[in-house]
Amino acid sequence: MHIGIGYDSHKFAFGRPLVLGGVTIPHTHGLVGHSDADAVTHALIDALLGAAGAGDIGTRFPDTDPQWKGADSIRMLNQVYLELVETGMSFVHADIVVITEQPKLAGYIDQMREKLAGALVAGHSSVSVKAKTNEGMGFIGRGEGIAAIAVVLLE
Ligand code: MG
Repeated sequence: MHIGIGYDSHKFAFGRPLVLGGVTIPHTHGLVGHSDADAVTHALIDALLGAAGAGDIGTRFPDTDPQWKGADSIRMLNQVYLELVETGMSFVHADIVVITEQPKLAGYIDQMREKLAGALVAGHSSVSVKAKTNEGMGFIGRGEGIAAIAVVLLE
């Protein structure tokens, strides 16, 4: 068994879509980034790479590479998954915490689990997504951005 942890955060801005866990969520703001800025999927990718001892998302998908500009992070997740499978590893389980004051994510959790599990060729019960606020504290509390933490188990 191999365990990995991933963390990501992105800044809110006007005029960007809000994509979390591969789901486009209606909101006044979106997230800034080179790709689609999907912090949930990025944290999960980093946890997978960590469990595989295969580096991190920044070196794997550099933001200087035009190939990843506006990229669908779910595609990046699936690519990392396929590479893991090639090395003989299999995905067991992921648990993800996404932290934001707004918008409320409860209505989107099932869709996120579906999307993320799909990219990992796993059942939806193998990917847990939990949403929390930061109780008004810090950059998340002020609504400046979103953070996500993921833990992954590979076999
Ligand atoms: Mg990111």
